[in-house]
Amino acid sequence: MIPLVLIVLLGPAFSGLAAAAYAKDAQCEGDGGVCQYTNVACDGKNVKGRCGGPANRQCCMPAAAAATGNVKWNLICDGQTANKLRGCDKYGCGSYGACRSGHKHMGVDVECPDGSVVNAPFSGKVKRQAKPYKKDNVINDGVEFSNDDFCIKMFYIHPDRYTGSISSGHKVGRLLKMQSVYSGITSHVHIQMCDSSKDPTPYII
Ligand code: ZN
Repeated sequence: MIPLVLIVLLGPAFSGLAAAAYAKDAQCEGDGGVCQYTNVACDGKNVKGRCGGPANRQCCMPAAAAATGNVKWNLICDGQTANKLRGCDKYGCGSYGACRSGHKHMGVDVECPDGSVVNAPFSGKVKRQAKPYKKDNVINDGVEFSNDDFCIKMFYIHPDRYTGSISSGHKVGRLLKMQSVYSGITSHVHIQMCDSSKDPTPYII
C-alpha cells in the first residue's frame, strides 16, 4: 500500500488522479484547453492561473483559441443551433480569403435562410449603414457594428435601425432575399472585420 503522502509528492506521476482532484481545471477545460505540466509539449499556448496544482501546471490552449483569447461570439442567425460557415456552392465559397472574380473574399459567410432574424454577435452599437455593392439591388444593405474590442460589417440584412446599442444575441435585422438575386446560393450573412485584413472566423466558430 502506498502512503497518501507519497501520492501527493508524486503528483505528476499520478496525473490522472491529480487532474480529477483539481476543481479549478474546469476553467481551462471549459474553454477547450488541457491542464498539464509545462514540461509537456503544448501545441498552442500555456496560460497561467486556470488549472489547479502547482504553478508549473498550466492550461494548454489550442493555437486558434489562444490567438483570440478564446473569445467566441454569439449565435448570429436565429433558429440555428450554432454558427455554421457557408461551404462552397456554384457562386463560390464562404471562407475568408476565398476566390472571387478579380478579388478575394475578405469576410466569412454564416449560413442563414432568407428572412431569418439576424442577431448581434456581441454587445455593441450600430454605427452606420454599410452596403456590399456600389450598384443597388434588393440585398444591398447592412450595418457597421462595433464595440471597444471589435468592429464588423454585416451584409445582406435589413436592419431595424442604423444607429443605437444592441446587446449580444439580440436582433439587428432580417436576412434579405438572397435567393432572388443568387438563385440556389447558400443564403448567408456576410461578416467582415472593418479592418478586412483580419479573419473573423476564430470568433465565429
Ligand atoms: Zn461573403
